Formats: sequence, C-alpha cells, structure tokens
Amino acid sequence: MQFDELGLSDPLLKAIGDAGYESPTAIQAEAIPHLLMGRDIIGIAQTGTGKTASFTLPMIEILSTGRARARMPRSLILEPTRELAAQVAENFEIYGKNHKLNMALLIGGVSFSDQEDKLDRGVDVLIATPGRLLDHFERGKVLLADIKVLVVDEADRMLDMGFIPDVERIIKLLPHIRQTAMFSATMPTEIQRLTDSYMMSPRTVQVAPQASAAETVTQGLLRVRGGFTEKRAALRKLIRASKVKNAIVFCNRKRDVAVLEKSLRSHGFNAAALHGDMHQSERMKTLEKFREGEIQLLVASDVAARGLDIPNMSHVFNFDVPMHADDYIHRIGRTGRAGKEGHAYTLATRADEKFLGSVERLLGHPIPPLDGSDSGRDDADNNSADTADQSEARKNSDRSAESRRKPSREEQAREPRPRRKLEKPSEPRRRASDDDDGNDSSAFGKDQHTPAFLLR
Ligand code: AMP
Repeated sequence: MQFDELGLSDPLLKAIGDAGYESPTAIQAEAIPHLLMGRDIIGIAQTGTGKTASFTLPMIEILSTGRARARMPRSLILEPTRELAAQVAENFEIYGKNHKLNMALLIGGVSFSDQEDKLDRGVDVLIATPGRLLDHFERGKVLLADIKVLVVDEADRMLDMGFIPDVERIIKLLPHIRQTAMFSATMPTEIQRLTDSYMMSPRTVQVAPQASAAETVTQGLLRVRGGFTEKRAALRKLIRASKVKNAIVFCNRKRDVAVLEKSLRSHGFNAAALHGDMHQSERMKTLEKFREGEIQLLVASDVAARGLDIPNMSHVFNFDVPMHADDYIHRIGRTGRAGKEGHAYTLATRADEKFLGSVERLLGHPIPPLDGSDSGRDDADNNSADTADQSEARKNSDRSAESRRKPSREEQAREPRPRRKLEKPSEPRRRASDDDDGNDSSAFGKDQHTPAFLLR
C-alpha cells in the first residue's frame, strides 16, 4: 500500500514525502480511507503506530475547503496531556504546510489571552486538553457549534485521568451531525459506553491486539529486597550495566520523581524530571533537551510522559510496577518503536507485588526475571546522601504544593484517579506490605541466577 492509493490530494502527498515517510503504517492504511469517506471510526492503536497522522492527514483534507469563523473552530482534537496536544500540533504543522489552515492549541500553563487572540482570528483545527477547553468555553471565548470533526485521542488515558465527564460534557456541546474518531490503546467498558452513545455506526480499526507488548521490546524484572533506598541503588546498578542511550524512568508517584531525579544526578547521571507540577515552558524545554540527546534519563510520572514521541529510545525503566496494568503496556511502548530494538526493565519490591500480578495477567505471561538480585547496594556509602536528597526534595515538593494557587479543573484532574473497575489483583506471591522496610525479604530472588551483564 502506498500513500497515493489512500485518496489524499497532491499537496498532502507532497508534505508526507517531505516528512520522509515512504509508505503508510497499518493504522494509516486502515483509518484514512474511512475518515476521508466521512465515517466515524474507533482506532485501537498504541502510540508509536503512526496514529496521529492517521487522523491529522484526513482532517487536513476534509478541512481544506471552507473557512473558519471567529471563535467557532471547525474541528476539535481532545488530548489528555499538554505534551500530547503540543505533539499533535507539531504534526499538523508538518503535514499541513501546503494548506492555509489555522490551528490553535488550548492547553494549561499557557496564557489565556494568546489563546483567545487565536480563537478570535478563526480556527480550523482546535487541539485542546478538556479542562482548558471548558475553561475557555465558560468564559464565552469559544463556541463549539461549528465543529465538523471531533477526535478523542488516547481515550483510555482520559479515563485514567478522570477526564471522561469533561469529555462527555464537551461532546454534548457539539453539533449532532459531525464526524467522530476515537483512539485508544485499550477499550475498557467506560470507553465502549462513550462510543455507543456518541458515535454513528463506527468502523473499528485495530492494528495490534489489545494490551499487547511490542515484540521488539525485551522485558525484564528485577526483584529488589528493601524499600525506596535499595531500589534507587538497584536502579543505578541496572543503568550502569545496561547500554543506555536514552531512557525514561517511570515512577508511580510525583514526589518520587523529584527525589529520584535528584538522587540520580547526585550520583553523576545525566537526568531530568518531568512531572505535572512543572511549569509548561519548563516541561517543554526538558522534553526538547531529552529529544536532542542533551538529557539521557528522563524521570517521569505516567501522566507527564503519556504518549511522548521520542524516537529511538533504548530503554524504559519502571522504577515502580504501575498501579494500573494498562500503564505497563503504555510505558514499555515508549521503547522498541518502529521495529527498533528496545528494553523495558521493571524493579519490584514487596510493595510492588500487588500490582505485578495484574500486569503479568494482562501480558499473559510472567515478566522474565533479570536476576536474583536483592538490595542492589552497589554504593551503600552514598545512600546517606540520597536520604538527605530525598528529605530535601520531599520538603521542596511539599512547599511548592502548598504555595500553589487553587488548581484549575485541568490541574485537579491531572493526576490519575483510581480506576472505577480495578482489575482484581492476583494473590501476592508473598505477603505484601506498603511500609516495606526490607527486614523480612530474604526469600526474594532466591534460586534465581544473576545474568553476566549485571555482574560486569
Ligand atoms: P504516533 O504513533 O502518531 O505517535 O507516531 C509515531 C512516529 O511515527 C512519529 O515519529 C511519526 O513521525 C512517525 N510516523 C508516522 N507515520 C509514519 C510513516 N508512514 N512512516 C514512517 N514514520 C511515520
């Protein structure tokens, strides 16, 4: 299949050629013809499959005729995070360079007035996070009565972040006659309900089985005896033993992101943090540096790192086993993209056990053990420095939380809320304890071998 068989016009084909794409990805080949015919689609695809172009290309085609009126955008793309929204906007600029379409990006952390100026000038493509869009709507700065195409991207993530009520509210503000595309890596029942309620005979296009991990990703599980300190030491050891070009280190908690980043830097690693409390411009700057290779390790929470398009990432480290099994798939999908080899290593203490069962059930197999390591104390002398870092960073993060103004709707919803329907955790292999102190974990890793690369 070639791009010129999909029904796209010459200016678009030229922009695609300039972007260096030779042939459409599976989701593009499947979704673009349906969207060009005006059909609703449900796209089940992970990030990294080229799904952004699968909806932006036909949208540019559809919107190429007609003009936007002030404050009345003609199409809307809803994204769960600012970074994803900004990434989609970048895609629009690349693919839409031969069209005169106006685009506005409505995301938090950026001044309202600049966004309002854009809306006043007339917008063909509005890319927004739900909270910020509703804020503008409530101020009377945007009218949604002229939306002809709606894209809800990363719907399962919207669900995790508690955005579904906002998304539903927005959909109800749109005209009934419109085209809708919904993209999601998985299809939980709540999302199914949305598609049943708000889509017209949608076609489902699916490029990978739900919740499957890319075959190009080598997964590994490192059991760690102890708690936060031992985990940090084990991570350092693992990073040193792996040929890491660039990696994301995922933490479950925002406060751990700050502590871990500080700790890694104090141990000489080139690391930076990405979390929801950072100012938008700071987040974008960090991300840019990571993309450019100036930063090697990006320590991040799931929300902050969601859907980031960073080509050629060599490793993903799960500092914690994610609380939602779906997140494991999303996290490790950051590596091994576009057929390239990737590595996803997960650290687990007893406190992680309760989540590990769900992840392994979703995968349909255990994560292969990396070794029988215990505390990973490669440099125990430095642990006291860590502890100091840790308490200082925790203090700072508390202080910054206190001094924050009343959060906007978007900010309130940014950190994931517990899923309404949590998967029942499997029986813990050992008694799990949240206040893991490492005193009673001698059985961990017993009888497992240590691979050579960790002993080097
Ligand atoms: P996405 O899944 O939309 O985040 O896209 C992942 C990456 O694939 C991005 O870096 C895109 O620029 C790239 N990409 C999208 N479509 C193609 C294509 N047809 N050929 C090669 N790369 C592509």
